[in-house]
Amino acid sequence: MLPPRRAFAFVLTAFALLSACGQQPRAHHWSIVVHGGAGVIERAQLTPELEAQYRSAMNHALQTGAAILDRGGSSLDAVQAVISDMEDDPLFNAGRGAVFGADGKNHLDASIMDGRSRAAGAVADVTRTRHPIQLARAVMEHSPHVMLVGEGAEAFGRTQNIEQVEPSFFFTERRWQQLVQELRARNLPIPPRPAGAPPAPQGALLFLDDHKFGTVGVVAMDEQGNIAAGTSTGGTNAKLWGRVGDSPIIGAGTYAQNGVCGVSATGTGEYFIRVGVARDICARMELRHETAEQASQEVFAELGAMHGDGGVIVMDGRGHAAWRFNTPGMYRARLEQGGRPLVQIFADED
Ligand code: ASP
Repeated sequence: MLPPRRAFAFVLTAFALLSACGQQPRAHHWSIVVHGGAGVIERAQLTPELEAQYRSAMNHALQTGAAILDRGGSSLDAVQAVISDMEDDPLFNAGRGAVFGADGKNHLDASIMDGRSRAAGAVADVTRTRHPIQLARAVMEHSPHVMLVGEGAEAFGRTQNIEQVEPSFFFTERRWQQLVQELRARNLPIPPRPAGAPPAPQGALLFLDDHKFGTVGVVAMDEQGNIAAGTSTGGTNAKLWGRVGDSPIIGAGTYAQNGVCGVSATGTGEYFIRVGVARDICARMELRHETAEQASQEVFAELGAMHGDGGVIVMDGRGHAAWRFNTPGMYRARLEQGGRPLVQIFADED
């Protein structure tokens, strides 16, 4: 044992050496966990090509986040960068590739939360913002509010130089066909193809309706131990009348609190809102000292009893990540500093 004075001097020297190398002492291992939606995702419904595309997209998401966290970047930056990429990827129901509302338009929702101060930002029903997660972060950092909707949210985005695009930017044939199918099944009128969408392809199109939700979400902890969480979605297929789900609702679809937890959810938002899923998981971890696994299991028991379906990714205050879902599959991936990436889709992979 070193006498206290010498021990103190030793610690000071170690810090001085680290600073001389231009490095901050690394207080925590960084960690990241990502989801790309939950639902009826079964082997029989996913072609090998599509499965490979999803696995590679999930891997890419981990690598994007890891690159930021590994150079000492913040968890907020990692969450924003990964979600922005996934919003551009038509595989996911967020940004480009979002599902359509019954009115034939894409209505996008997103939220982000900073576990340091529990500052949060959210947007709902935006139709022109290329990266709703970036707009949510701008709401958090540059407005006095937590949640902005519709035209107002986009007017604010313009003051922040957040990129806007024509609504047809978000169009994908696969999602359009899913809308048409759903509206037919519900005997609802089919809206005209959106202006600016490519012409309808000839012949019958077969898109596997994988009944997945496809929302994206990320929770990360950086080397400073700061947790951030974010979620982005197009909502649910053929949604009606300005419907908003849980994803942009802080405490339902997203939550982050340093030292306690980070959560991002996906599933039928109506249930996640009523249970207050993200906040409930965190409250159990904080007040009952439940693990991420226990807390999500308890909350999912409640959700399941109401017939709610979907999944969550959860991180505890030390960067340990877990997930839970009650659907046949969930696109999910995680990586801790120094560890190996884990990418899974089907329930039986766990
Ligand atoms: N939770 C989203 C919503 O209800 C949908 C999803 O996760 O896929 O809007």
